[in-house]
Amino acid sequence: MSKGFLLVISGPSGCGKGTVSKALLERNEDIVFSISATTRKPRAGEEDGVNYFFIDEDKFSTMVDEGKFLEHAFVHNNYYGTPKEFVMEQIENGEIVLLEIDVQGAMQVKKNYKNVVFVFLLPPTMDELKNRIIKRGTESEEDIERRFKNAFEELDFVGEYDYFVINDKVNDAVIDIENIIKAEKLRVKRHSNIKNQVIKQGGK
Ligand code: 5GP
Repeated sequence: MSKGFLLVISGPSGCGKGTVSKALLERNEDIVFSISATTRKPRAGEEDGVNYFFIDEDKFSTMVDEGKFLEHAFVHNNYYGTPKEFVMEQIENGEIVLLEIDVQGAMQVKKNYKNVVFVFLLPPTMDELKNRIIKRGTESEEDIERRFKNAFEELDFVGEYDYFVINDKVNDAVIDIENIIKAEKLRVKRHSNIKNQVIKQGGK
């Protein structure tokens, strides 16, 4: 098994996936972010090629037809997809590739790929989740309602994930995910020659 793996993080809109992922990436050099393509319009402060590749629906459907996506889904009225080539290259290089994707995309990844760790990020309460979406101030009232309603459906999928992390305090959530990664790195199956490595250290 390759030392690199996919780290899928999902969770309802407003649970803080973006904030937690950003902190995780800043603190861990061996994690790379998979930049998704989306037909959603950029929010203030979002940059093309940094947060997302912002593309139109024609380009998105061409990429789907050409098999350029590892997974893709229609989420909250927009299309989102994970460009495949980048992810595959990084895995080959032994990197941990962070995919911040919705539950539909995660289920596609689960069906098609083996070397994946699935983490579901939860808000401390549903009231707090709604407050966070409202406080972000980037969505219309209609969009806030849609995202909040979808949150309950997304929660149905938590049982499909390997781990859950409650994002009450960002720093604690990041440490929880770092601990998950640490344990995953120590899986015996990721170290096929661990016995020989130890023996080589010397001794009878
Ligand atoms: P947002 O519009 O808030 O950035 O993202 C909306 C939802 O789309 C979030 O749940 C986010 O995780 C998900 N998402 C972002 N990129 C992808 C992707 O490449 N594939 C899938 N399936 N979902 C994505």
